[in-house]
Amino acid sequence: MSVDIRRRGIKMTETTERTVGRTERYDASLVEPKWRERWEADDLYRTPNDSDRPKWYSLTMYPYPSGVLHVGHWYAFAVPDVYARYKRMRGFNVLFPMGFDAFGLPAENAAIRNNIHPARWTFENIPLMREQYRHMGAMIDWSRQVITCNPDFYHWNQWIFLRMLERGLAYKKNGAVWWCPSCQTVLANEQVIDANVCERCGTAVYKRDLDQWYFKITEYVEELLHGLDDVDWPERVKTMQRNWIGRSEGARLKFLLETGDELDVFTTRPDTVWGATFMVLAPEHPLVRKISTEAQREEIEAYIDKARRETEIDRMSTDVDRPKTGVFTGAYAQNPVTDERIPVWIADYVLMGYGTGAIMAVPSGDERDFQFARAFNLPIQVVVQPEGGPSLDPDTMTEAYTGDGVLVNSGPFDGRAVPEAVPEIIAWLNEQGRGKAEVTYRIRDWLISRQRYWGTPIPIVYCDTDGMVPLPDSELPVILPRDAEFKPTGQSPLVSHEGFLRTTCPICGGPARRETDTMDTFVDSSWYWYRYTDANNDQAPFDPEAAKQWCPVDLYCGGIEHAILHLLYSRFFTKVLRDIGFVNHSEPFTRLRNQGMILAEEGTKMSKSRGTQVAPDELVKQYGADSLRLHLMFLGPWDQGGPWNNRGITGMERFIRRAFAIVTETASNGTSGDASDSERQEILRLVHRTVKRVTRDLEDFQFNTMVAALMEFTNGLLPLKDQPVASTPEWRNAIETLVLLMAPSTPYVAEELWERLGMGYSVHVQEWPTFDEALTRHETVEVVVQVNGKVRDRLTVEPNITEEDAKALALASERVKEQVEGKSIVKVIFVPGRLLNFVVR
Ligand SMILES: [Zn+2]
Ligand SMILES: [Zn+2]
Repeated sequence: MSVDIRRRGIKMTETTERTVGRTERYDASLVEPKWRERWEADDLYRTPNDSDRPKWYSLTMYPYPSGVLHVGHWYAFAVPDVYARYKRMRGFNVLFPMGFDAFGLPAENAAIRNNIHPARWTFENIPLMREQYRHMGAMIDWSRQVITCNPDFYHWNQWIFLRMLERGLAYKKNGAVWWCPSCQTVLANEQVIDANVCERCGTAVYKRDLDQWYFKITEYVEELLHGLDDVDWPERVKTMQRNWIGRSEGARLKFLLETGDELDVFTTRPDTVWGATFMVLAPEHPLVRKISTEAQREEIEAYIDKARRETEIDRMSTDVDRPKTGVFTGAYAQNPVTDERIPVWIADYVLMGYGTGAIMAVPSGDERDFQFARAFNLPIQVVVQPEGGPSLDPDTMTEAYTGDGVLVNSGPFDGRAVPEAVPEIIAWLNEQGRGKAEVTYRIRDWLISRQRYWGTPIPIVYCDTDGMVPLPDSELPVILPRDAEFKPTGQSPLVSHEGFLRTTCPICGGPARRETDTMDTFVDSSWYWYRYTDANNDQAPFDPEAAKQWCPVDLYCGGIEHAILHLLYSRFFTKVLRDIGFVNHSEPFTRLRNQGMILAEEGTKMSKSRGTQVAPDELVKQYGADSLRLHLMFLGPWDQGGPWNNRGITGMERFIRRAFAIVTETASNGTSGDASDSERQEILRLVHRTVKRVTRDLEDFQFNTMVAALMEFTNGLLPLKDQPVASTPEWRNAIETLVLLMAPSTPYVAEELWERLGMGYSVHVQEWPTFDEALTRHETVEVVVQVNGKVRDRLTVEPNITEEDAKALALASERVKEQVEGKSIVKVIFVPGRLLNFVVR
């Protein structure tokens, strides 16, 4: 036993900081580097693929190589590290890898700002960040590091792209796509956020017609929807994905035109078809020019021209003040249920990219149709009357009625209630050959082409003889040239790199041109965690056996901002990899946990410009990584975050010093024989109660209450370290348990204390302590309360209740109060756990 024997036998009556101060003070700046080096030298965090232990894959979203981990990163990484360490002690073979999301706009834009090459920027920053992870003490197996801009990684983006192409899951098509004028590239629908701005730079985006590459995510749409039922994810993330997928059930109806053409429309309200009094086509609808009458032609052409120049932001505006514009085509259609002749208009509020580009307008039930009808004096027919309210009158209505109610003017369905009648109406339309049930989705295929430099080249060449030719696997990887002019110009910088552009056709050997667009960075993050399972494979993206060993990921931690983009794409890739035989599961991440945000002290978002950002490196220097880890956990529930405060970290430093003192200064007075059975029992109970709380809190991701439990534990132990009980095996068990329970949260001081206890290296490979449920229950005793020697009451209390607490309880008792009131207490006799006697006069 190597308990600090220099202090043994010294009688210490004070148990405060000052006492600790006079003895050895814990110095993180000495202890932390010592253990960091030892762990690295011993490869303590190397994770074997083969192990007898059950696997646990703890994944944390990887960062951009920005060069610096701020305190938010610490929050996102250090807390999952605590959990990963805990799982390791629970007997799991834990994979806790890390890498860098190195391709893409953030790295490229930062490099352009700093006027250096994105590759240089990336590779200079990565070592700086790895050094920060070292200081954090994170349990990362760096032999599995993934850097996505390395050809050994993006090679496999190209390989997966080719597999997708073979299965018809990658395709090129011309169409209107979102364009960010600031980033000078197209964006996927998912990267355009509310109010149609670029999710990267906040610039308003607009649509352009371009030839672009897509991944057919819609192929898996039902699975993407239903798979959400099988995963343990925050409900709001599931809801965001469901809304993005946007499944709606309705009917596709056929409207016959007098020109003999047919128009398909999709509606989620087939019950309102009796109220369709006109039709509206998108100006870009292919039938517009064909059906327009000679008399209307000029006006129609002018309107099409005008609509083309408008942004979709305006066109989709639901702003009621936006004046409705449109032009009559001169054509008429037949309402398929009323057989009435209804006019066909064009208007910019109908978009070609959504639904069929044509709508049946039901002004009584849709606000935009209502405004359009009022603006152009078109008829309004009420088909749903609200129940219990005043009847709607088309002449006096001021807005559409979109609620439920009773069907009127609806042929055989008059008097029926909405929405119960909807399925019957669909069945009836189907029977009549006038429509059929249809399901539509909001989600579109994933646009992956980018007109930027810093990304994976797309492995396609164009040959005059053979057209578009996918490269054979043997010609991969297509290397991104370092010497390209990378500043964005609106077309891919690779276009002007002759050495890259000019190649030979793999089919005919003639001259060919390479595809110059690069892949969206989200392609990298859609499968990077599989690469960690087999990071150095140069024959395949990963060995399916390695993936089978580790995946699915048991726990994925990261920010809520990835609720749609990254998580949806990752689920899609997993299904594709499953279908090509590389993985044997359908959902990549069994559990997902989102951290909250660390705010500035005043509760606002941390900001560099206002100087409210907190630099973790300085704090580590001053207080040590262990204190910072604890402080982050203690700020509030991890999934909610909270405001930073500088005072809290000193409290954590004090806690660590207290724990250090308890373990290193145990200086019993006397032998274990001097300690009473009840004292020994009480320590045992305290240990079991603490193990239970800490274990439960860790399992539940309740890190703040877990830290509180550790603090209470040390508060309970501290006064006892100089008592006879500190010579007992129960005490020894208590301090060993304290060190084990601290190991995940404060890996450095725990390792140091474990060594000082004379235990084998390393504390991080020890077994997690267990508890006996029976010992966690609080024992109670009966304390007799006397006043001047006469029994007046009995208190049922914990055996270790203090005199102070017992007195307060007793004086609250009515029966004691009666005897004491108006008199003065001259003496109190307290026999712990048994008797309390007030002497009054
Ligand atoms: Zn942008
Ligand atoms: Zn060719």
